[in-house]
Amino acid sequence: MNYYSLNRKAPNTTFEDAVVRGLAPDKGLYFPESITPLEPSFFETIEDKSNTEIAFEAIKQFIGPEIPEDVLKTIVEETLNFDFPVVEINENISTLELFHGPTMAFKDVGARFMARCLGYFNKTNTKDVTVLVATSGDTGGAVANGFLGVKGVNVVILYPSGKVSDIQEKQLTTLGQNITALEVDGVFDDCQDMVKQAFMDTELTSKMQLTSANSINIARWLPQLFYFMFTYKQLKSKNKDLVFSVPSGNFGNICAGMVAQKLGLPIKHFIAANNANATVVNYMISQTYNPKPSVQTISNAMDVGNPSNFIRIQELHNNDFDTLKANLSSYSYTDDDTRAALLELYNDFNYVADPHGGVGYLGAKDYLKENEAHVVFLETAHPTKFLDVVEDVIRENIDLPPQIEAVMHKEKVAIAINSYDALKAFLLQ
Ligand SMILES: *Cc1c(COP(=O)(O)O)cnc(C)c1O
Repeated sequence: MNYYSLNRKAPNTTFEDAVVRGLAPDKGLYFPESITPLEPSFFETIEDKSNTEIAFEAIKQFIGPEIPEDVLKTIVEETLNFDFPVVEINENISTLELFHGPTMAFKDVGARFMARCLGYFNKTNTKDVTVLVATSGDTGGAVANGFLGVKGVNVVILYPSGKVSDIQEKQLTTLGQNITALEVDGVFDDCQDMVKQAFMDTELTSKMQLTSANSINIARWLPQLFYFMFTYKQLKSKNKDLVFSVPSGNFGNICAGMVAQKLGLPIKHFIAANNANATVVNYMISQTYNPKPSVQTISNAMDVGNPSNFIRIQELHNNDFDTLKANLSSYSYTDDDTRAALLELYNDFNYVADPHGGVGYLGAKDYLKENEAHVVFLETAHPTKFLDVVEDVIRENIDLPPQIEAVMHKEKVAIAINSYDALKAFLLQ
C-alpha cells in the first residue's frame, strides 16, 4: 500500500517510508491510496475468529508488502496480548474498556504496533531512528512502554515539569534502556513547540532520522481500527444498529473507527464526544473550521484546540460536509457535566469511569434522546490514572492495579531542560 500526503505537494510513498518519516516532506498527513472493503463473509463469521485473526485480516492491506505476512502476524499478536471487554451499562449503552494494556491507556495498542514495525524496519537499516514525543500525560507512558528495548530506536520524551500526574510521571521516567525522559521547565505547549522546532531544524535532521509517535503517524493511527471490530464481534448477536461515542482530542481514534466502517464494518453512526475544546462541534454547526488554543479540563488528554486528524476525517468523507454530517454527531461538555456523569455511572450502574469515558457516556445519552441504536462509548483510560478527580466525585478509594503499583516504587530518572538549545544539544551529543 502506498500513501499520499494530504497537502498533495509531496511524492506518494511506501508504508515503511511514511512510518519512518511520520509527517510527509510537505508537512501533510499521510493517507492510504485506497481502502478496499473486506469480504462480507469476514463480518458474517467474525465471532468465530480470534482478535489476532481479525486484526491481521483488517490491517494487512495497509502494510504489505514491506512486512511479510508471518512477521505481521507476530507483530499483531504481540501488540494485542490483553483483553478488550465490552461491558453493558444498560439496555442501550455499553462501554468498550480500552485500558487493559501495560500502561492502562488505549494508546498502548498504537504504540506497541508502531514500535514493532519500526523495530522490524531497523533490522536492515544501519541508521538509528529517534522517536521524539511531547506528552501531556498518557502518550508518553504508552510510547515509552511500547518502544522499550526495541533495537535501533531511541525514544526521547518531553513532558512539562509538575503538570503530569505522579503515576504518569513514574510511567515515563522509570524505564531506562532506550527511553530518555526530558523534564521541561514549562507547559505542554512548550514541549510540543520544541518537538516541532526539532523537526524543522535541518541541521538536526541532516544528522539524525527523527520521527513522531503521535497519531499523525500511520502506524500509531491505523491499528486503532481494531477496537471497533472487536466490539462488533462481541455485540453482533444483539442485532441492533451499532453507534460509537468516542471521547476525542486529536480525533485519531474516531478516524480509525471510520476506516473500519470503510472496510465494511456495519457502524451506523459516530459521535465525537468533546470537553470544552469544541472546535469540531462548532465546525459541524457553522461549517467554519476555527482552531483555538486549548483550554484545560479534567479530561486533559482531549485538551486539543486544533485536532490534527480532522483533515483525515474530511478526506474519508470526500471533503463533503453533508456526507460527514450524516455520519458524525458531536457534542461538547463542561467539567461539571463530566463529574455528574461519573457520579451517575457510579450511583446508577455501579460503574467507575474515568473523565474521558464520562464524556463518552454523555455523548451516548444525548444521541439516544433522538435516535434508536445500541451506543458503545469508549473507556480510554483506567480511572486510577485520574485518581484525584474520580475519588473526589465518587467519594470512594480505588485500588491501584498491579501495573500501576509496580512503577510507583521505582526511581524517577529525568534530565531537566529549559530551552530548545538544550534539547538540540542533548540530541546531538
Ligand atoms: C489520547 C486520548 C484521548 C483522545 O484520543 P484522540 O485519538 O486524540 O482523539 C482520549 N482519552 C484518553 C484517555 C487519551 O489518552
